[in-house]
Amino acid sequence: MKSVVTALLILTLAASGLLFTLTLSAADTDFLIYFEGSTLALKSQTIDRAVYLPLVDIVRHLGLAYTDATGLLTFTIQGQNSKLVLTPGSAFIAVNDQPILLQSTIRRENGQWLVPLDFLSQGLSRVAGQEFRYRPGTRRVFAGRIQAAELVMNAQALGGITRLTMRTGFSVDVDLQKETAQHRAILTLKGRPIDPARERLDYKDGLLQSVTFDDSEGSPRVLVAMTDDVRDVRLTSAEENRVYFVDFIKDPAAEAPAPPVAAAPPKNPTNITNVRVIVIDAGHGGIDAGATNAGTLEKDVTLNLARRLRVALQSRMAATIILTRETDVALTSEARAAVANNNRAGVFISLHVGYSPDKNAAGSSVYIMRPDFTGGFPQFDSSRLFFPWYMAYRPSRQASAALATQLQQNLNQAFPGWKVPVRYGPLGVLASATMPAVAVEIGNLNNEAGVKMLTDEDFQTRIVGSIAAGIEKFAASSGGRP
Ligand SMILES: [Zn+2]
Repeated sequence: MKSVVTALLILTLAASGLLFTLTLSAADTDFLIYFEGSTLALKSQTIDRAVYLPLVDIVRHLGLAYTDATGLLTFTIQGQNSKLVLTPGSAFIAVNDQPILLQSTIRRENGQWLVPLDFLSQGLSRVAGQEFRYRPGTRRVFAGRIQAAELVMNAQALGGITRLTMRTGFSVDVDLQKETAQHRAILTLKGRPIDPARERLDYKDGLLQSVTFDDSEGSPRVLVAMTDDVRDVRLTSAEENRVYFVDFIKDPAAEAPAPPVAAAPPKNPTNITNVRVIVIDAGHGGIDAGATNAGTLEKDVTLNLARRLRVALQSRMAATIILTRETDVALTSEARAAVANNNRAGVFISLHVGYSPDKNAAGSSVYIMRPDFTGGFPQFDSSRLFFPWYMAYRPSRQASAALATQLQQNLNQAFPGWKVPVRYGPLGVLASATMPAVAVEIGNLNNEAGVKMLTDEDFQTRIVGSIAAGIEKFAASSGGRP
């Protein structure tokens, strides 16, 4: 009676099309079969180095008719136009009376029928009318037309944060459950079965203790054990939910990738482009003052210009404008780029002030990443999902050059007579930015006139206006990265 009720329940749930799990008891199961619309959790056994699954659970889940003839010592499964017969102790099974040899023998132990894994693809697929796919060494099987999303994870330390990146082949939804008191975070992946490339991430640092994939309870999750130094965990997505960044933050006061406190976009968006987020980096900060001349510090000039540039952009574009820092704090180059990467910025611009040995020098330079700053890259294979962070800029290299040229044009127009070269530099802040990214060096702090100009409000308004116009034009023409 119980089995009839279970079978009906299975049919009802399967028909509802929801992912559900038939669990024995979460702790007891260690193997999953993902069907379309359902997931079957099983307890596997390893005998003579072969993985075995309980046959009756699978056959019942599929709703197939079967006969367990204990007296005859055979197990018969009846498909629509096919019949499968198993005999314990034999590696031969019969499908419509045709013998098929499995890699291991069928077993019947303690009243339970056990089948080796290749029984699924060699035998069961013929009566069940669906395929079973299995990667050796894993503990999950995908049946029928199920398309699992491959999951690749990596982690990296970025100054005061550690970033876990999760990349999947398909869009998935991810829920973050922070359990800071228990020193753990749980990321639940929804919408698709997940096929992790590796179940355990080989990474550990002052913030992360372990990162493990777990779907033993039927829903794919990533479990992260954190140290007590983690104060906050933040989740952001990119590339239409195919990439998730999980930032484990040591000191939220440092507010490295924290300040997505973007001012509201203008009420009447004047120009809607593909670029929805722009990140402005005010160079230097904190103990790092940058170039100085008497009381004028580069870090103050850049922050002031960054704030003004934000206003200028907001009045022109319907984009969210984010500053890497709002106050006088020190940030690593990686943390600055992380703000842009985290927030899916379409444009990243880092502001600096020149300090030319030539005291008469005026003007500005627009910098983009120099392609060979490590003195030769390893061969870049575009099919790879990941590449070292310092090569993150590479896919956007041409767009960065286009942005630099556009800014050069606008600065030339606004300041006739200025030299505005486009230079290539090994800039850490640009290296790990994954979008069109430039650094602009404005003016020259190494002379009185330069200081006066940089602290002049009219000049500041004009220069940020010209940079904003350049960004707007770039966004409208190429679109940058949405
Ligand atoms: Zn600087």
